[in-house]
Amino acid sequence: MRAIRRFTVRPVLPPALSALGDLAGNLRWSWHPETQDVFEYVDPERWESTGRDPVKLLGAVGRARLEELAADADFLARLGSARESLEQYLTGERWYQRRQRTGEDLPSAIAYFSPEFGITAVLPQYSGGLGILAGDHLKAASDLGVPILGVGLLYRHGYFKQSLSREGWQQETYPVLDPDGLPISLLHEENGTRATISIALPDGPDLLARIWVASVGRVPLLMLDTDVEGNPDHYRDVTDRLYGGNSEHRLRQELLLGIGGVRAIRAYCRITGHPAPEVFHTNEGHAGFLGLERIRELTVAEGGPKLDLDTAIEVGRASTVFTTHTPVPAGIDRFPRTLVEQYFSEAGPVPGVPVERILELGTEDYEGGDTSVFNMAVMGFRLAQRANGVSQLHGHVSRGMFQGLWPAFDEAEVPIGSITNGVHAPTWVAREMFDLAAGQGAERESDDTDAFWAAVDKVPGDQVWATKRVLRDKLVHDARKRLRSSWKKRGAATAELAWIDSALDPDVLTIGFARRAASYKRLTLMMRDPERLKSLLLHPERPIQLVIAGKAHPADDGGKKLIQDIVRLSDDPEIRHRIVFLPNYDIAMAQPLYPGCDVWLNNPLRPYEACGTSGMKAALNGGLNLSVLDGWWDEWYDGDNGWAIPTADGVEDVDHRDDLEAAALYDLIENDVAPRFYDLDAEGVPTRWLEMTRHTLKSLGPKVLATRMVRDYVRQLYAPAATTAHRLNADYAGAAELAAWKKKVRAGWPHVHVEHVESSGVGDAPEVGDTMSVRAFVALGSLAPEDVDVQLVYGRSNGDDELLETGIESLHVAESYEGGRHRFDAEHVLDHSGSFGYTVRVIPRNDLLASPAELGMVALP
Ligand SMILES: *Cc1c(COP(=O)(O)O)cnc(C)c1O
Repeated sequence: MRAIRRFTVRPVLPPALSALGDLAGNLRWSWHPETQDVFEYVDPERWESTGRDPVKLLGAVGRARLEELAADADFLARLGSARESLEQYLTGERWYQRRQRTGEDLPSAIAYFSPEFGITAVLPQYSGGLGILAGDHLKAASDLGVPILGVGLLYRHGYFKQSLSREGWQQETYPVLDPDGLPISLLHEENGTRATISIALPDGPDLLARIWVASVGRVPLLMLDTDVEGNPDHYRDVTDRLYGGNSEHRLRQELLLGIGGVRAIRAYCRITGHPAPEVFHTNEGHAGFLGLERIRELTVAEGGPKLDLDTAIEVGRASTVFTTHTPVPAGIDRFPRTLVEQYFSEAGPVPGVPVERILELGTEDYEGGDTSVFNMAVMGFRLAQRANGVSQLHGHVSRGMFQGLWPAFDEAEVPIGSITNGVHAPTWVAREMFDLAAGQGAERESDDTDAFWAAVDKVPGDQVWATKRVLRDKLVHDARKRLRSSWKKRGAATAELAWIDSALDPDVLTIGFARRAASYKRLTLMMRDPERLKSLLLHPERPIQLVIAGKAHPADDGGKKLIQDIVRLSDDPEIRHRIVFLPNYDIAMAQPLYPGCDVWLNNPLRPYEACGTSGMKAALNGGLNLSVLDGWWDEWYDGDNGWAIPTADGVEDVDHRDDLEAAALYDLIENDVAPRFYDLDAEGVPTRWLEMTRHTLKSLGPKVLATRMVRDYVRQLYAPAATTAHRLNADYAGAAELAAWKKKVRAGWPHVHVEHVESSGVGDAPEVGDTMSVRAFVALGSLAPEDVDVQLVYGRSNGDDELLETGIESLHVAESYEGGRHRFDAEHVLDHSGSFGYTVRVIPRNDLLASPAELGMVALP
């Protein structure tokens, strides 16, 4: 029988145990082992059976046990100290506050928008890397005291759960999540009613959403949910699941996230007194509509400043940061233009903002663009003054990919920077690893990670090795449990499953490979030559074992086929004890997986992996990376901290390319990886292996941390954005001036020319140290010399007169003539031997531009 209504009765804790509710109500427990110990003590069995879920645990323990605990002095002491630790964590002064105290101009708050957040296994609101990254961003911000407000959606089914059919075909299920049983709480108005936001949609009533708040340490995460009374059924389904449905469904989700997200922030700040964000960060293009809502607030909203559109765009741009996350075209949201047009009509969510201007923002009006679509990444770049990719290589690839938006500039000057992703160590590093360092005096709680890296050399090799054995053993046991339950679902009888008790071996070199089954990730590269793989798995002295996991998007049959191929291979009785596919890759699986692996394998098709973070998590646990030089590994591989799988870049035939790269992978494992792992000294310790482990920890450890990443965001993007925004926002006069200046420069630009360039001072045989004098005669029309930067661009010149390794020097105005003509001069000292070339160019100049390419305009001779 189906219930017509359901709700969850929250437990009432005895007053002596009220702190348990506080601990369960803040997700900091998920990266704080001492708090987890407290929950475990409450009821060890239920702690495991609820999947280590404090809210479910407290709902499941009986009154008798609670009363027992309320009288247990030992427990109360531990509870008290965990509560005290949380209090200190939430209120103490941290990195950000210390910077503020030195008078630095930092934003009072930053809003961080993402379609998914992966914070803990018990709040399954993520599909993969993007969500995990967003979760780690919030946690690291919390650790550093950075005042971020997260904004996302609450999906009734989250993503999906993966299982396998008998034939190894991916099956998807969508369990219903009861929000009342999740570690979140509803936002209420001061009068006790629930806070809601609404969005006008054409051809229907307003879309309503309630606002859930998850406390991620110091960071509130707002999650919008349309499953509310008052919404018709098809509106309730707007937040049904992550990355499901057709274009229109996705568009509605993104309207909710972007526009609804800004409204949720306004409600939250109004109710709680939280400072309003001064910077808006959109994690991938999905939340880009937030820019339109901010334009509406500034132009037409009641009670707003009623700016003109161009001024409002300047205000919004200055305070917006856009991070692009993928070089794979299918990963970028593109909507049919007509759909966007329909949704942003006057009956839409931002009435008063002209639909033609909205459409322009997402138009691919460059060479090779498709003008029938609305591109969210393109709008992202146009509405954000600062943008970045997520590794150096990805920054480079993105500059090439989006160069069409700044066609007058060389790729290197396209204003897309990069900040390499990082991972949240307290979430991803096994407790046993932290304990090793703690044995050498490094403190887990402290800000001082240097002590941690210093400890790496002090821990004796046999201890490191014994710990890795423990972690491998834990993984083996977890994997067997998962295999057993998977085989039962696949219809096997218990009697058929005895082999699982000896599947995997805690003393065999363990290679992990887990990732989405997107085609560029090449899940099946390792089985390119099944016989060769088999001989590695079954090697008599130096065997390897493979632990594999990954989900395919429900609509991606190609990805499901790859999974099936791997599953079928691993079903082979000859090798099934050495190669396993574990269904349902998620945080709960990932946490024991990374520490239990000796080697982390990654073999994407270069350069499609924007960054990748799983290898970072493996490295922090003393695992060695064996990877194609893509994403982060291209940047930080140093020759000794793991292995680079050689790539056959440029080989056009994909099959041939895969053959070459797979052969290189097998060779590396056979000749380098396995021999090193099994080369034990007299004490049974692989000294040369551990040397690499230590070097990995020391060389990568400090770089791969999410705290490093968040500090980079603060310094390179958030703080500069806030500074520009402050200059524009004092009564908006700065923004109006900037908008007017841009208009003037755009109008005047057709009359800007470099008419003539002279140089002197270098004779027929120039030498290093000679000074070259340059004089450029430039027509500026109606523009003033202050409006422009006249630059000498110089460098090595190749045979095609192409300038390489360029440097730039500004010329100064020396003389002005009638009719808007000027002479600009510079002296340049030749400081390199070899071929030399130069040119002179004019670009717009204004202190409030973040990049010289921002307006996309340049004048050359
Ligand atoms: C870290 C992580 C990812 C992302 O890993 P990539 O290296 O970016 O593929 C995906 N899923 C889970 C569960 C993770 O923990």
